[in-house]
Amino acid sequence: MTLTQSSGIPDAVAAARGRFERGLTRSLSARRRQLRALGAMLTENESAFEAALWSDLRKNRAEAQLTEISLVLAEINHALRHLRRWVRPTRVPVPLVLMPAQARLVPEPLGVVLVIAPWNYPVLLLLSPLVGALAAGNTAVLKPSELAPATSSLIARLVPSYFPDGAVHTVEGGVPETTELLAQRFDHIVFTGSGTVGRIVMRAAAEQLTPVTLELGGKSPAWFDDSADIAVAARRLAWAKFTNAGQTCIAPDYVMTTPDRVPALADALGTAIEDMWGRDPHESSTYGRIVNDRQFDRLVGYLTGVDPAIGGTYDRTERYFSPTVVTFPATDRPAVGPDAAHPVLQEEIFGPILPILPVASAEQAVQVINGWDKPLALYVFSSSPGIRRLFEEETSSGAVVYNAALIHAAATGLPFGGVGASGMGAYHGSYSWRTFSHFKPVLEKPLKPDSLRLIQPPFGKLGTAL
Ligand code: NAD
Repeated sequence: MTLTQSSGIPDAVAAARGRFERGLTRSLSARRRQLRALGAMLTENESAFEAALWSDLRKNRAEAQLTEISLVLAEINHALRHLRRWVRPTRVPVPLVLMPAQARLVPEPLGVVLVIAPWNYPVLLLLSPLVGALAAGNTAVLKPSELAPATSSLIARLVPSYFPDGAVHTVEGGVPETTELLAQRFDHIVFTGSGTVGRIVMRAAAEQLTPVTLELGGKSPAWFDDSADIAVAARRLAWAKFTNAGQTCIAPDYVMTTPDRVPALADALGTAIEDMWGRDPHESSTYGRIVNDRQFDRLVGYLTGVDPAIGGTYDRTERYFSPTVVTFPATDRPAVGPDAAHPVLQEEIFGPILPILPVASAEQAVQVINGWDKPLALYVFSSSPGIRRLFEEETSSGAVVYNAALIHAAATGLPFGGVGASGMGAYHGSYSWRTFSHFKPVLEKPLKPDSLRLIQPPFGKLGTAL
């Protein structure tokens, strides 16, 4: 069922609940059927998805496949491969004092899951959580982002044909529809988006005591030092930063290095940008656009008071914003967050501007990171085991990646999620399965022998009055 009218929202949730309560999504075969239906929805409509992503974000076909469609399909295949093992109860040892007895953990679905998605990866971030929800035997209500309207309406149109029995529903819309949705009762909510809206979601969920997974953002730092291969490091940094025109939650937000490395790093980033998107990325068919005027104007604002080492050009009619690198002078106390010297270092950039922040040492970089919110990811481009250990042990982040960026999101064996201000809870692979299941402890004790008598009154001597 698809709804675009807010008045139908309670009906959509009730239908998803009715479907769940009839137990129709619980069997192994039902779960497999739903997962295959989701896979078919993507593969049979590949070109429609590619066209929608082009229309919403000017995402080219390679990127649509690499960073959205193939990742959802990989999640589906992973779940299908492991589902039989996941659904089995696991035996748990029982302490001697409780013997004879047997204990096990029985995974059960939670019920109805609400998935609220952002616009930047509008297929991946809506459908990847859905894989886990369906694998765990739940039904779901999807709320795609209104800021990726082509993708939103495509999904709303396809869902009823691929889930005709109503295990998945779509509610399209923006703030009023999401507000109404959040007033309904769900059994789990996965929200991907900003910390500001994350707080609204968590407050609404608290009213219903609904558990939440919050996938939020923040400023993900990168460190670069001279022991790393500068050309490869710069190419990986530029790719991670400027893919999807920087509108990636785990894009490196800023890069820190020592002052002597700043010119060489800026040069190498320039070469990497030219290698990937040509002399004029405006002409490149593989360079994206900014999602809307509001975001575009915000990014243009960041150029005030900086002197770009690379790029810094834009075209509002097309919402084209060139890959841009800005450098800052070295200071005694470099900072990131509310106390930083410039707005581009104060807020999550979420666009194609990469500041290079000079710091005296890796230790000072650690202080900068620890001076503000825990980031979603930390990227360390260094071959030195000591430097890697320093960052890994002295900072906290959703994930750490050495000598690369973004790619951890494709490792189905790793949980994906933030910590502190960058989010709570995690998903992907078996972690999605855990997120959307309740592991119910079941303990079985025979009536004979009646061994519980030992812990029941009158307790012999121990039971006498003191
Ligand atoms: P957003 O928070 O503005 O919107 C996300 C969703 O919330 C949308 O579906 C939107 O309709 C809904 N929403 C917006 N305002 C609302 C309100 N007042 N009440 C109820 N619902 C509301 O985020 P966005 O602009 O779509 O995405 C950008 C943010 O998302 C960035 O901070 C980015 O880092 C983060 N992000 C995080 C991840 C991750 O996996 N951790 C992935 C992508 C994006």
